[in-house]
Amino acid sequence: MSRFLVTGGAGFIGSAVVRHLIAGTGHEVLVVDKLTYAGNLDNLKPAETDPRYAFLKADIGDPVAMREALASFRPDVVMHLAAESHVDRSIDGPGAFIQTNVVGTYVLLQAALEYWRSLPQAEQAGFRFHHVSTDEVFGSLGADGLFSETTPYQPNSPYSASKAASDHLVRAWHHTYGLPVVLSNCSNNYGPYHFPEKLIPLVILNALEGKELPVYGDGGQVRDWLHVEDHARALCLIAETGLPGESYNVGGNAERTNLDVVRAICGLVDRFAPDTAIGPREKLIRFVADRPGHDRRYAIDAGKIARELGWRPQESFESGLEKTVRWYLDNPHWWGRIRSGLYRGERLGLS
Ligand code: NAD
Repeated sequence: MSRFLVTGGAGFIGSAVVRHLIAGTGHEVLVVDKLTYAGNLDNLKPAETDPRYAFLKADIGDPVAMREALASFRPDVVMHLAAESHVDRSIDGPGAFIQTNVVGTYVLLQAALEYWRSLPQAEQAGFRFHHVSTDEVFGSLGADGLFSETTPYQPNSPYSASKAASDHLVRAWHHTYGLPVVLSNCSNNYGPYHFPEKLIPLVILNALEGKELPVYGDGGQVRDWLHVEDHARALCLIAETGLPGESYNVGGNAERTNLDVVRAICGLVDRFAPDTAIGPREKLIRFVADRPGHDRRYAIDAGKIARELGWRPQESFESGLEKTVRWYLDNPHWWGRIRSGLYRGERLGLS
């Protein structure tokens, strides 16, 4: 049994990791989260009554809070997911991305290094700092090719540049100070509890309510879609069995254009929630101005994690999307609170 300190654990992917750790393992979990607009304690409800779960509201950029959290919880693993994560918001306001993703990661690394140095030697060897990052650090692909762990970094948005900077810091803390780190870079996630500013949940909810379905540019941008629960399983495996200093790419083997994704959602919503007043949802599709600097294609070669750690995604895009649409239909109390207050589906990131 290990102790996992999970930063950003109230967000989309972090909460999937925490639900997996509590339901599927015997590990103890401390979530450290600032609860920004993207952090939501409702995401953690399935875990919150378990005695192995605890929550701390704190900013990863606060060195005193990070030092105290590490010293009192004494984790075996720090899994670092806290970040500003939405590309459109990084175009409107890059400052928060530099502050949390770059400076926050630096503060957390310093606190983790001090804590790791204080451990007895046997515990030092088993400790891991796992940094969770994105394939967007590699830039944009043409029609062919895949991102591997050795692809050069070429980030194009303020978001991906801030994540690239944090990856470099984590790597440097390993090479310079010996901190046992692992990194992972994954493709676009989707699934339950996804904040409805992102493409898939936004389109599901707009389609359900008969609202317009915005498609950026010509909709031909390709992403490699990864179900969040497959990702959570991969992250726990990497934290427990990944080699120090190594990075692992995680992808869903599911390349689709954005337009294909939107059409597939329309078909599923028509099937599960037919509405004669709305009619076929595809009629709601509207092509809108593209995101400035929008990357054309991302695709992951997930061969290393398959060969070395034995991970493969369990969901196909079709099975994962169907489950996701059903989840949104079954959980209006979760997204209703967000759509009625925090975020109503407005366009962000036109610069
Ligand atoms: P999210 O936006 O849903 O959640 C981020 C969480 O971090 C929130 O709970 C938020 O409150 C918390 N947070 C933000 N700033 C903080 C701070 N200063 N201190 C403490 N907590 C803070 O993000 P997500 O989609 O779950 O992504 C998690 C991680 O995975 C991020 O590092 C992101 O870059 C990476 N990632 C995400 C995707 C994706 O498709 N969602 C793909 C690749 C990589």
